Amino acid sequence: AAMINFNNVSKFYPGGYEALKSITLSISQGELIFFSGHSGAGKSTLLKLMAAIERPTSGSIVVGQQNIDSLRRSAIPYLRRNIGMIFQEQKILYDRNVFANVMLPLQVTAFDTRASASRVRAALDKVGLLNKEKADPVTLSGGEKQRLCIARAVVHRPTILIADEPTANLDSGYARDIMAVFESFNQVGVTVLISTHDRMLLDMTQHRVLELRHGKLVT
Ligand code: ADP
Ligand code: ADP
Repeated sequence: AAMINFNNVSKFYPGGYEALKSITLSISQGELIFFSGHSGAGKSTLLKLMAAIERPTSGSIVVGQQNIDSLRRSAIPYLRRNIGMIFQEQKILYDRNVFANVMLPLQVTAFDTRASASRVRAALDKVGLLNKEKADPVTLSGGEKQRLCIARAVVHRPTILIADEPTANLDSGYARDIMAVFESFNQVGVTVLISTHDRMLLDMTQHRVLELRHGKLVT
């Protein structure tokens, strides 16, 4: 079944810059897919449209069963319950420990403290950071910081995981660890979408790679 469908989607930013041009694509439930392309090709914009962080100028976007191109503002939180997001602008909070950083997304939900704590530990376990739950994030390596961001993105157990350049600024060993984490979520049925221009990741993957060039899908 299709999890995400774009039909003729274009995105103009204010000022008239056309970041995406007539994108049509279909992503199956349970797929892991890479979006590649040069800086400015439109990768981030594409991922942001899926989470309704940006809205399309024209065309239609379906995520799950829901048509989201004209989603009411009040419905966005419901959409995001199904999506875990790892974007570079999401900051780790350095005034609290690893555990509390992963707990953050659950504080706006109705979970009780014990249920939340067990979800936080499950998420930390899946990214291999359970032994660091009490650590001050400033003491983490680059790869560990990124795994913390992944734990925070999956703590509400989304069915879709979106990651924008998750291995940027990481050396190749850490990049492999991060990919193994994404693979493990994909293996339990999570649909995973990753933007990257990391040649090493793209060369070694068995998964589908869609390339963007100046806002268009290269076919
Ligand atoms: P990528 O992730 O492939 O580097 P982006 O989606 O970030 O590409 O950007 C695509 C194009 O849209 C770029 O030319 C970028 O400068 C432009 N762009 C991105 N965000 C905005 C914005 N908020 N306002 C105006 N232009 C933007
Ligand atoms: P529980 O069912 O007690 O909450 P877990 O949280 O450990 O136990 O998850 C149970 C199973 O669901 C695990 O195999 C886990 O990997 C899988 N799973 C499926 N989707 C997700 C997701 N989005 N985030 C985390 N785990 C998930």
